[in-house]
Amino acid sequence: MSKMSESPIKKSRALPASSTTSSVSSCSICNEEFDSRNKLFKHLAICRVIDGNKRDADNTTISKYLEDNKDGDIYLYVLGGRLRGRTLRTCERYSFRMNKWEETIHLEENRGSHTAAGIVNKGLVYVLGGGGMQSNLNSGEVFSIKSNKWSPIPPSSKARHAHSSCSVIFTEDHHQLYVIGGWIDGKECTSSIECYDSIKNVWEEKNSLVLPRKLFGSTYHKGTNSIYCFGGLIDNLLCTNRVEAYSLDKNCMSECVTLPFVGSTSAITTNKDQIYVVIHGKAIVLYDPLLQTFTILATLPLKEWFCFDISYFGMYSLIYSDIYILIQSPTIFRRQNISSWWCC
Ligand SMILES: [Zn+2]
Repeated sequence: MSKMSESPIKKSRALPASSTTSSVSSCSICNEEFDSRNKLFKHLAICRVIDGNKRDADNTTISKYLEDNKDGDIYLYVLGGRLRGRTLRTCERYSFRMNKWEETIHLEENRGSHTAAGIVNKGLVYVLGGGGMQSNLNSGEVFSIKSNKWSPIPPSSKARHAHSSCSVIFTEDHHQLYVIGGWIDGKECTSSIECYDSIKNVWEEKNSLVLPRKLFGSTYHKGTNSIYCFGGLIDNLLCTNRVEAYSLDKNCMSECVTLPFVGSTSAITTNKDQIYVVIHGKAIVLYDPLLQTFTILATLPLKEWFCFDISYFGMYSLIYSDIYILIQSPTIFRRQNISSWWCC
């Protein structure tokens, strides 16, 4: 760890004032050279994050958790969805210990284009809204891993699908679920935001998005006490790169710096309060809400790869779709050995 105390800037040599080609400084973490201190400082902001994550990742790997917790397991749940025009009730989970998929208790209602949010420390998984057998749903259900059972939660005021949702955890027993935007009445995007509070057991309307949208990712960031909403579609065809932040303190939205690409997105905040956004078909980016910067970490390993979701364990992001789980940590893709059929 001696590296931590050293200055991360390595001076190469003093340059004559006329020189325009040689590098002036290099990064002591990765040795990359830069021709201006500005570029180096920009690079360092990212390099420190990636380097820190690499070291932390060693202590939070999935295999290390399973080794330390002999009776424990890590599950990835896949809940309902659509398969060749059918809307499903079926649920499956992937056991990282067994390295296989297993069927689990079915949803009470068939639903697709819904969202799911987990309250991991309570062993609870919520599904919210979506398209049902007849029409869009305003219902929600919660699965308790302990009691192995689904139970309904009160309905929200709007029936929506292709919306976004995220959880905000205040204490072990107090959390909120936000549902944001989505497609309503079969014809338009909504800007509506509603919040379910686990203690009051009721939904509450919040101030709306500036830009109505669907098929986008949102995630909560503790440091700014805000929920960030990234990109998405504003109608059936048109993608946006606009980003908005909902401040829980002020109950209002503000516009942020735009994404480097337009597109639908999935977003996650890791346990280090870092936000990763996957822009579908394009790239994985790191978002810094304080500096208002996006950094492209990697392009996706499959060209034009869409329709997946993202989750995380420790420092690892799990990106999953119909055939792959990719573990990204955060610069290396690893393809998990999964071959059985599933649907997200
Ligand atoms: Zn570097």
